[in-house]
Amino acid sequence: MTFRLLASTLIRDNTLRRLPTPRAIGTSTGPKWQNVGGLADADGARSVPIVDFSDTRAALRSKTTWEIARGSLVLKLCSVPLFVTHSLSMMRFGQKVLGRRLFAAVMRPTFYGQFVAGESQAEIRKTVDRLQDAGVGTMLYLSLEADVGEETKVSEHVNIAGLSADDNADLTRLGPRLKKLGEMALKSNVKLLVDGEYSFMNPALDALTLAMMANFNKSQTMIWATYQCYLKKSYDNLVTDYELSQKIGFGFGAKIVRGAYIDQERDLAKQKGVPDPIYDSFEATSLAYQGALETMLGKISEVGPRCSIMVATHNENSINYALSRMTELGIDKQTDWVNFGQVMGMCDHLSCALGQKGYKVYKSIPYGPVYDTLPYLYRRAVENRSFTADSRVMHERAIYWRELKNRMKGGK
Ligand SMILES: Cc1cc2nc3c(=O)[nH]c(=O)nc-3n(C[C@H](O)[C@H](O)[C@H](O)COP(=O)(O)OP(=O)(O)OC[C@H]3O[C@@H](n4cnc5c(N)ncnc54)[C@H](O)[C@@H]3O)c2cc1C
Repeated sequence: MTFRLLASTLIRDNTLRRLPTPRAIGTSTGPKWQNVGGLADADGARSVPIVDFSDTRAALRSKTTWEIARGSLVLKLCSVPLFVTHSLSMMRFGQKVLGRRLFAAVMRPTFYGQFVAGESQAEIRKTVDRLQDAGVGTMLYLSLEADVGEETKVSEHVNIAGLSADDNADLTRLGPRLKKLGEMALKSNVKLLVDGEYSFMNPALDALTLAMMANFNKSQTMIWATYQCYLKKSYDNLVTDYELSQKIGFGFGAKIVRGAYIDQERDLAKQKGVPDPIYDSFEATSLAYQGALETMLGKISEVGPRCSIMVATHNENSINYALSRMTELGIDKQTDWVNFGQVMGMCDHLSCALGQKGYKVYKSIPYGPVYDTLPYLYRRAVENRSFTADSRVMHERAIYWRELKNRMKGGK
């Protein structure tokens, strides 16, 4: 498997790099890094916004009143720590007591309906069409599992010292499957974005993803990797991988996220007695996120289609930063090189406002039966925990509540 070995031999000759000095978000008074992940600057330091996220009425006009009420209720529930902590066991218990059908009937209009597109093709199609009407594209969230019924004809073998026989056998089977996936992506013109996972899995994932990029990103950038900026190593990896892509000559696609497994990563590091791979604070992660955006937007302005990113975040300041740098660097919003991404059920006011202004924005939409999506729903509950009064979630709740009150008063 040439492409696999090509990647694993070339990646990560980590020369230590420093994050670029991030810029202020269109300020005249200088950077306010402590605010980088917060909500709008209270002192109005940001200049005229490129997209007006405060016009939430316009942004939410495609949502039904029921959806607004549900969003408000779900976020309210996520503000109850006891509910969030025990939500997975409560959902499993509920399913046991009520039975799958009744439990699904309770979940569908509430938590499941908020975060999951549905189960049948017709349900998913309806979600896709509605988003499209609001100017928002969709990114189907796939949970790939091994197809045990498939008999794979193994024509090439890998054998990596240090891996068990089972692991080597898995690797051998993986190659032809990834190749098939890449070929199908090309044939059907569908981009594949590989998720970032736990840090102990990422080196293998990155190597495979880079190998796929080198193989399939020839005329278009079909395969994308994910960079989790909460990892101290992430920035170096991003730059190294980008440079490799330019050296070899393949299109580079990067989904840039903050990272979803903070608690688990910290627990694992403690258990193993190794240094915490994650930055110490939210502010440090946000600086790294901004540094990654700064570097990649700079590259995009130089090499255009050979480098594409997805600014995958619900953080309004990060989105504003990307928007203002795109403008300063002259990157056209109609191109495919800069995309924005949010998860279904979260920050619709941002996604819709971006879509209405003609930016490339995508909602990540998961699908599947209720009982299969419980761990996913639990993760969303944890992500929407609100610890402080000025948190993103509280802000979003206030938006829903205000819109609901407007509509009740006959505003729509
Ligand atoms: C389209 C899309 C795709 C995604 N794909 C992936 C993926 O492949 N892999 C993945 O891991 N995640 C993925 N995520 C989730 C993402 O990593 C974040 O968990 C989530 O988006 C919240 O971060 P934020 O920037 O949206 O919001 P914010 O609320 O601004 O940031 C919250 C994030 O900040 C970081 N943070 C918070 N507190 C601290 C602290 N004390 N110290 C250090 N860092 C801290 C954490 O990363 C936390 O998730 C994806 C998100 C989106 C929108």
